Amino acid sequence: SPKFFVGGNWKCNGTKDSISKLITELNSAKLEPDVDVVVAPPFLYIDQVKSSISDRIEISAQNSWVGKGGAFTGEISVEQLKDVGVKWVILGHSERRHIIGEKDEFIGKKAAYALSEGLGVIACIGELLQEREAGKTFDVIFQQLKAYADAVPSWDNVVIAYEPVWAIGTGKVASPQQAQEVHVAVRDWLTKNVSAEVASKTRIIYGGSVNGGNSAELAKEVDIDGFLVGGASLKGPEFATIVNSVT
Ligand code: 13P
Repeated sequence: SPKFFVGGNWKCNGTKDSISKLITELNSAKLEPDVDVVVAPPFLYIDQVKSSISDRIEISAQNSWVGKGGAFTGEISVEQLKDVGVKWVILGHSERRHIIGEKDEFIGKKAAYALSEGLGVIACIGELLQEREAGKTFDVIFQQLKAYADAVPSWDNVVIAYEPVWAIGTGKVASPQQAQEVHVAVRDWLTKNVSAEVASKTRIIYGGSVNGGNSAELAKEVDIDGFLVGGASLKGPEFATIVNSVT
């Protein structure tokens, strides 16, 4: 199965001091060697993190501009991210879809641009509670997948993050069976709509209330290839436990 991938999405959290403490914890943690480990600090702190974190851990941004930089007030370009050593970008996160209002097509364009410039993309998908309750989970995630598929030239540097919105920051983690069911559906969709090779190679990671107590059970599912962790990634030892839940 593909190499396990664990990302820590720090969201809009932290200060110079708290981040310095977190980096000290991460640098001294014992991390399983066969796992890709990535952290996504707020833009402002990326340079601080890059200059002090172990090379073992790669840096992701939490967003990027859709094209080349220029007169786009408040935005950060892919070129600027690369300039400070960023290797990945999280796109299509539910907080950007549902709080900021980003749409499928715009997210697809961002993914295509970031990939064309050599960044890896953590492409998020996930349904709202009301969509799940209405039996629309697969419709929603297939539509989100299609928007990426229509835009990206290649899936080589894409990790898909399935993050059911009802599980994010709620403490209501998806059961291993619930996550596995969607991950299988994502893989089947890739087989039918992209290729069998992309379906078998692409990491499909789970996010939503993952913590040090539930990650091992989730990691046992064959189609869960890692995690995207929010709250629990702000605690170094707990994040290390999640990284080390690889089976
Ligand atoms: P929590 O782990 O805090 O639920 O957040 C998940 C998430 O949104 C990661 O991108």
